[in-house]
Amino acid sequence: MVTFLAGGTGTPKLLDGAARVFEPAETAVVANTGDDVELGGHLVCPDVDTVLFAGGGVLDHETWWGIDGDTTATHEELRRLADEVGLGTAPRYLDDAAQTAGREIARWRRFSAVGEFMEIGDRDRAVHLTRTSLLDEGKSLTEAVGVLADAFDLDVDLLPMSDDPVATLVHTEGGETLHFQEYWVARRAEPAVADVEFRGAADAEPTDAVLDALAEPVVIGPSNPVTSLGPMLALPGFERALRETPVVAVSPFVGDEVFSGPAADLMRGVGRKPSTAGVADAYPFADAFVLDDDDPTELDRHVERTDTRIADADDAERVARACERALAAVTDEPAGARPPGGGAE
Ligand code: GDP
Repeated sequence: MVTFLAGGTGTPKLLDGAARVFEPAETAVVANTGDDVELGGHLVCPDVDTVLFAGGGVLDHETWWGIDGDTTATHEELRRLADEVGLGTAPRYLDDAAQTAGREIARWRRFSAVGEFMEIGDRDRAVHLTRTSLLDEGKSLTEAVGVLADAFDLDVDLLPMSDDPVATLVHTEGGETLHFQEYWVARRAEPAVADVEFRGAADAEPTDAVLDALAEPVVIGPSNPVTSLGPMLALPGFERALRETPVVAVSPFVGDEVFSGPAADLMRGVGRKPSTAGVADAYPFADAFVLDDDDPTELDRHVERTDTRIADADDAERVARACERALAAVTDEPAGARPPGGGAE
């Protein structure tokens, strides 16, 4: 067995070729839910859904979110209606009382759908409606995601990090508090980051399924350490579980160059070096790292090197093989050959 920890781009890219290295039926993927928002009453789980759509073969590989070729008729009509009456298309938080009232799936991540600030495709929306309705029927988020994983014929075991709400909030130098989706989607990561908060994490718990998955060797794909791994590490017991199992992390940097996205700004914002060295500092529990051939960083932990740019499944397979070598180097038994429930004796 092996467990991947996933955000919304880097690890899903790696998973595209990982199936050739790690048996999918023996693979769990723990997905970040700190980016989730409730929009017009529907729970949107961007990182969970990227893994879902990628595994189901329907992901839009241009954006790394949403369904390929999806239409946006409902989204466009929501924006047209709001514009028509001067309400605009900026993010519209529900008021403080509404953030924790009613359904227990919100926590300062609850937005009105008036003017819908995030683009939600029509087929994509069907997933959010189904998920929210399954929650309303009394299922946990883990169970609801399990139903969706069956609908998309997923080979891996896809697990949200927690059934409890956690909201990644960005505090800006200007004194604003923005939900991560407002910072990223509506504000294009322009505001200077002063700090990042994982609201609700201290009261949230990793699920039993996640804790079981963390007893296996863990691969942290090239993820954003602040907004994809940060919410997981903020959950009570998560980091302790990682300390007790072999962990390999793929750097999302080459030295101090980031491949894509806001990871460097966010690392700086939380006082970490925006580089591979900063990632290593953020992951004291990691036993090994996979670094790019051109990465000059020297680490005091086991390092496997390869070309870590992932443009297609062949690249992903190459990086996954480096992860497998790294795990083998820091584990007594090779990954995939551990006895059932093994590793945590
Ligand atoms: P999200 O897209 O914001 O949810 O973020 P992720 O947690 O998936 O992190 C994206 C990270 O993946 C960024 O920091 C990128 O630098 C990194 N990344 C994107 N593409 C590649 C790639 O091809 N190779 C590697 N090594 N990292 C990548």
